[in-house]
Amino acid sequence: MRRTIAILGATGSIGTQALDIARRYPDHFYPVCLTAHASAEKLFQLVREFRPRVAALEIEPREIPEDVKFCQWIFGKNSSARVLAESGAEDALCAIVGIAGLDAVWTALDHCQRVLLANKEALVTGGNLVMEKAARLNKPLLPVDSEHSAIFQCLQGAGPNRPRRLILTASGGALRDFPLENLYYATPADVLKHPTWVMGKKITVDCATMLNKGLEVIEAHYLFHMPVEKIHVTIHPQSVVHSMVEFEDGAVLAQMGNPDMRGPIGYAMGYPHRLDYQARPLDFAAFSQLTFQAPDLKRYPCLGLALEAIRAGGTAPVILNGANEVAVAAFLMERIPFGAIAETVEKTLNRIQTAPVRSIEDVYAADALARKTAEQFLAK
Ligand code: NDP
Ligand code: MG
Repeated sequence: MRRTIAILGATGSIGTQALDIARRYPDHFYPVCLTAHASAEKLFQLVREFRPRVAALEIEPREIPEDVKFCQWIFGKNSSARVLAESGAEDALCAIVGIAGLDAVWTALDHCQRVLLANKEALVTGGNLVMEKAARLNKPLLPVDSEHSAIFQCLQGAGPNRPRRLILTASGGALRDFPLENLYYATPADVLKHPTWVMGKKITVDCATMLNKGLEVIEAHYLFHMPVEKIHVTIHPQSVVHSMVEFEDGAVLAQMGNPDMRGPIGYAMGYPHRLDYQARPLDFAAFSQLTFQAPDLKRYPCLGLALEAIRAGGTAPVILNGANEVAVAAFLMERIPFGAIAETVEKTLNRIQTAPVRSIEDVYAADALARKTAEQFLAK
């Protein structure tokens, strides 16, 4: 049976890999809705190939080519969310980067049967509200992030047993072995060379600071209803063990595979069926070793800040995320050195009093304040 799917953030790293799976399985998936921010030419090309019913761009292009006018177009602010009502999509893959994707996740819960979640920032910022809404509407949130997909896969066989601990693996990012004394002045060119995964720029920087792993602890806390103290992080440079679940009897289940995001994306798209996307088999004889080590918070202060933020609760994770989005963008534009990302996040968290989150409006207000405050620190 062919399922209709909306790919929100279709031109990005996750979006294009999801479309690669759809391309291999035309009888299983019809990408009925494709959206992007500003990459008009890329999106036009995808529209020509996949022939969706609807498409959206946040930034309206100067003109739309004749050969893509067969589908309905929506432009402007929040068009990736607004388009969902028109799409009739059964599933929505939320692959927009940053809190910009929260509105799409929120709206997808109203209009689609299942939400396939890559956009971790939506849970980091809107966690309780998004989880409550999904539960109230009885809509599954299927994880796409590789660690959360791994945990979700390990839990398929858990029966009535609750895990005792979740263990998230991390590559340690591009600067894992960078001399500590030079870390502060690492450049975007140093940071964008991720050792094992090819991803969008923002998440690649987040991997180097390990703020990404902090966001993932928060994401796992909400998705799997686990207290933060029961979620552990280990650096595993080979990125073969994608994460683990430990049970009361000490048994640990791990999900393994070559690092290829089409694995977790395809698992969410096909769930509960596994898809053959011609993954390279794991060659055990080729590994001389699989190693694990505790992260050093001197090298990765952002990980410590993220853990403090989730413990503080309320708007603290929203402030963490907003300040980080501003700082990472400034780093990628070479306005600030690498080390200033952690400083900006820390100062912003210290400056703003946290408050409870009661509504989505509270989330957006905290995000706006965090961005403004972080910008003020950067301007100095
Ligand atoms: P990319 O930067 O590669 O792609 C982001 C996509 O979102 C693009 O299609 C972009 O459009 C679109 N977009 C950006 N801003 C907006 C906006 N305001 N409104 C609508 N669309 C927007 O990111 P990734 O694919 O790497 O990451 C996407 C999400 O998935 C992130 O939350 C990330 O943390 C998560 N994730 C990614 C992984 C990966 O391997 N890449 C792994 C695990 C999680 P345009 O091209 O026009 O800019
Ligand atoms: Mg991940």
